[in-house]
Amino acid sequence: MTRAVVLGGGFAGVLAAAVLARHADDVLLVEGDRYPSAPLPRRGLPQAHHSHVLVTGGARALEELLPGTLKALYARGAHRRGLTGDVLILSADGWFARHDTGAYLISCTRVLLDHVVRRRALRGVTVWPDTVALGLTGDAGRVTGVTVGRAGGPPRTVEADLVVDATGRRSKAPSWLAGLGVPQIEETVVASELAYATRLYRAPAGRAAATPAIMIHPHPDGPARGATLFPIENGRWVVTLTGDPPVKEPGFTAFAHGLRSPLIGELMAAATPLGRIRPYRDTSNRRRFFERAPLPEGVLAIGDAVVAVNPVHSHGLSIAALTALRLDRELAGHGGVKPCRTPELQAAVAEVADPSWRMAVGQDGSPRPTLLSRAALTSHQFATRIFRAQTLIAEQESTP
Ligand SMILES: Cc1cc2nc3c(=O)[nH]c(=O)nc-3n(C[C@H](O)[C@H](O)[C@H](O)COP(=O)(O)OP(=O)(O)OC[C@H]3O[C@@H](n4cnc5c(N)ncnc54)[C@H](O)[C@@H]3O)c2cc1C
Repeated sequence: MTRAVVLGGGFAGVLAAAVLARHADDVLLVEGDRYPSAPLPRRGLPQAHHSHVLVTGGARALEELLPGTLKALYARGAHRRGLTGDVLILSADGWFARHDTGAYLISCTRVLLDHVVRRRALRGVTVWPDTVALGLTGDAGRVTGVTVGRAGGPPRTVEADLVVDATGRRSKAPSWLAGLGVPQIEETVVASELAYATRLYRAPAGRAAATPAIMIHPHPDGPARGATLFPIENGRWVVTLTGDPPVKEPGFTAFAHGLRSPLIGELMAAATPLGRIRPYRDTSNRRRFFERAPLPEGVLAIGDAVVAVNPVHSHGLSIAALTALRLDRELAGHGGVKPCRTPELQAAVAEVADPSWRMAVGQDGSPRPTLLSRAALTSHQFATRIFRAQTLIAEQESTP
C-alpha cells in the first residue's frame, strides 16, 4: 500500500495529484480552502482575479495529462490566439508583424480553467478541504508524513510514502524541513517592482469572439508601464495594467490611454466595466533551490513553491503542467512512488522550471535590453524562434 499526500490544491497540486493517482494506491490532497462548486473565486487563490493565459508548452502538456481538457475549455468559451497571427504585440521596439509561428495562448478566466481541470484531475483522489498543512514528520533522512489541522480541531498526523508541497509562493516547506534538521534551502529573489491592476469588461455586442489578444510593453527609455487585453468566456475581456497603475477610476482608464499606444484604452472606453479594479503587488521572481539541499527521501516541492516568476511572463501554469508530465514519466520509469528516489525527482522538477526562470530573470534582472531592428520585428524566422521559446515549446521540436 503506497500513500502520497499533496499539500495545496492549486494548479500544480491538482495536476500532481492526478499523476500520483496513477502511481500510488492512495492519494490525499490537503487544501486549506474549500473549492466552489462553480467557476468562482476563492480565498486561497487571490491571483485568480487577474489575467491568466496558458501558453503552448503548458497547453500541450495539459492535454497529454488529461485528454479532452482543451476541447472542454473551448466549449465553455475559452479562446485560442495564435502568436503572432491573432495577437497584437507592441514590443519595446515596435509592433511585431503577424505570422503563424506555431505558438499560441489559451485565454479564459483562471476560475474556469481550474474548475474544468479539477473535475477531470481529481477522479480517484481524496480531497480534504478546509485543512491546513502545519509541518512535516520524520527526520533529515526521511519524511514520514505531515501534520494537518482543521479549524476547531486538534492537529493530526497523516503518514505517507511521499509528501508533495504545492502550497505556492508562500510555501513554508523550507522552515518545515529546517525543523527536521535539513540545512537551509537557498533562495533567490529578483524584484520586478511591477504592480498589477485588473478589471473585467463586457465587450461590445458580438466583438469578444473576434478580438485579438493585445499586449503593450514599455519602452526601455520610458516608464515601466504596460497593459494586456485578452478575450475570455461569456463575451468579456480581461484588462491588466502593469507598472504603477491606479486602482480607482478615472485614473485606471487614463493610465491605459497614456500608454505608448492608446489601443487598449480605446477598447476599454467602448466596453462596459464589470466589477471592481483588483490590485496585485507580489510580482517578484522567487526561486527556492530545493535540489541543492541534502533533501530527505519522501518529500518533493513543486509549482510556485519552487519557482514563481513575475506573472507578466505567463509561465506558472505551464510549468505546473510540464512538471506533472515529467513526474508521470519519472515515476513510470522507476516503477512507482516507493522505488523512486525523491532527490532525483526534485532535480527533474528544477530542470523543468529552469528555462522559465532564466527567461524571467534575464529580462527583469538585466539593465536595458538591446533594441530590435525593423527587419527583426518583421522576420517570420525571428518571431518563430522568440515565441516558441516564450511559450515553452521544447527546443528539439521541429518548427512548423
Ligand atoms: C497576478 C498573477 C497573474 C498570473 N498570470 C499567469 C498567467 O497568465 N499564466 C500562467 O501560466 N501563470 C500565471 N500566474 C502564475 C500562476 O498563478 C501560478 O503559477 C499557478 O497558480 C500555480 O501555482 P501553484 O499551484 O504552485 O500555487 P497556487 O496557485 O498559489 O496554489 C497554492 C494552493 O495551496 C493552498 N495552500 C496554501 N498554503 C496551504 C497550507 N498550509 N495547507 C493547505 N493548503 C495550502 C492554497 O489555498 C492554494 O490553493 C500568475 C500569477 C499571478 C500572481
